[in-house]
Amino acid sequence: MKGRRRPEVAKRLRWIHDQLAAAYGPQHWWPAKTPFEVILGAYLTQNTAWKAVERSLANLRAAGALTVEGLRALPLEDLRRCIQPSGFYTRKAAALKAFVAMLDEEFGGSLKALAATPPAGLRDRLLALPGVGPETADAILLYALGHVVPVADEYLRRIAERHRLQEVASGSKSYGALVELTREAFADDPRDTHARLFNEFHALTVAVGKAHCRRTAQCEGCPLAGDLRYAK
Ligand code: SF4
Repeated sequence: MKGRRRPEVAKRLRWIHDQLAAAYGPQHWWPAKTPFEVILGAYLTQNTAWKAVERSLANLRAAGALTVEGLRALPLEDLRRCIQPSGFYTRKAAALKAFVAMLDEEFGGSLKALAATPPAGLRDRLLALPGVGPETADAILLYALGHVVPVADEYLRRIAERHRLQEVASGSKSYGALVELTREAFADDPRDTHARLFNEFHALTVAVGKAHCRRTAQCEGCPLAGDLRYAK
């Protein structure tokens, strides 16, 4: 029964993308100038608001540490101080240093060499690093390294749960199931490349999450309110 409803759910997920795209327009993600800044942001945004990340990135910019070389040269104590606004700074500083160490030891310090690695093996390598969970790994793969992978996050999980998408489709609430559902939703979408669709979809779900689908849902005026009737 659930298997037969997957296409229907994938279609609803695509409708959700279209509604959000019409309501919010292009999101121009990721908000960063270079791939390394994307990676820094992906680490720093864990469990914190983007405003706090912006303050940390401004500190890193002032310290000349928005590049691999700059971060490598920045003493750990200074790195902690720079990223203090984003919270969990001891853990995040160690994780960023571990990323640069991995890049140096295994890829000659080159992000291009890292990006040239096939995504499946690369995802496992990223997940083996301290402070990297599935969402961070996928955000790095998609937005920094240009691989075609969907990204799920807490906002999408919330939407899927409140609209009963994931549960209806697979009975699973795991991150992996949500990612697979997203992949399926855009599998035969001819309108754009999958990388661009995944890029926009994640950015748009963050936009609606911030505006409406907060801890307490504010459904009135939400672009996705029309889909709630299927959630009964
Ligand atoms: S706020 Fe309501 S309508 Fe909007 S995405 Fe969340 S549950 Fe759906």
